[in-house]
Amino acid sequence: MIVVMKPGCEETDVQHVVELVRQMGLKEHVIVGTDRTVVAAIGDKRNVDKGAIENAGMVDRIVPILAPYKVASKETQLEPSAVEIAPGAVIGGPGIGVIAGPCSVEDEGRLLEIAHAVKEAGAIGLRGGAFKPRTNPYSFQGLGETGLKYLAKARDATGLAVVTEIMSIDQVDMVAGYADVLQIGTRNMHNFNLLVAAGKTNKPILLKRGWSATLDEFLLAAEYIMNEGNRNVILCERGIRTHEEYVRNTLPLAVIPAVKRESHLPIIIDPSQGTGHAYMVPSMSLASIAAGADGLIVEVHNDPEHAMTDGAQSITPEAFARLMKDARNVAVAIGRSA
Ligand code: PEP
Ligand code: MN
Repeated sequence: MIVVMKPGCEETDVQHVVELVRQMGLKEHVIVGTDRTVVAAIGDKRNVDKGAIENAGMVDRIVPILAPYKVASKETQLEPSAVEIAPGAVIGGPGIGVIAGPCSVEDEGRLLEIAHAVKEAGAIGLRGGAFKPRTNPYSFQGLGETGLKYLAKARDATGLAVVTEIMSIDQVDMVAGYADVLQIGTRNMHNFNLLVAAGKTNKPILLKRGWSATLDEFLLAAEYIMNEGNRNVILCERGIRTHEEYVRNTLPLAVIPAVKRESHLPIIIDPSQGTGHAYMVPSMSLASIAAGADGLIVEVHNDPEHAMTDGAQSITPEAFARLMKDARNVAVAIGRSA
């Protein structure tokens, strides 16, 4: 349920409600909005004395939360959430936030070169997997901690926020020591223990949609993270599995307005995994922005033909620079800043 406080309530009024909620065995999430403060009270309702809360000072009313996800729902927070991934670099604000870089971290020199190029073109984040979830156990699995060190160096050189994947709980602390944003990949969206571990960190989480997950399951995965106290979740649509063969995945852009209707969380699109083909990436990126996405995560490589992973869907730094120019024009056309 949501306890809506009256305008002008004091911190002590909110604290009193928090204590009542805790005494009833519920967990509280205080959300301070621009024109109202609410306390979302979540948990088993059996021992709840609604009257006691209703009669507390400065409580306006209590409303039930109907969606299965609570803290991720627009019912608890109307204003869109903006997630800061580096000082001054935001995803979910009036502008479009773009993360770009290679699928995998390969070597230091190449990573630096790509990082400088995407920064120059206007990216705010650098992507690159150091731990790679590969279908084939004999394929390149990523450089591990060495790759994280290269990413941290690239951040120091460019100021870009580092976005990289965690695949298991035992990687969380190590990766969090180097990265600015922890990515949870499509294969792990249902790994509830990993979601909880990510929720206990203070790093923003880029949560990719499972390739066969419904929207409700996607938002419930976000809820797992948020319920641990980490509200900095960025949703990412990366395509779903269908019968289609001309694309690696089918990229359902209708998820953007659907997420905007159900949740306050920002959503970005991964047109690289979402299509599997470099030639499709620019048009699907522009379509995503036109449809209201808060940003993109794009695979960029300076020698796609020889990339260790996902070369076929990686665009060159030159193509990325052109894409960024076009993306700015689309953003402005729909009333967002570039
Ligand atoms: C990736 O970003 O390279 C990746 C493996 O993503 P996904 O989890 O969406 O497949
Ligand atoms: Mn990839």
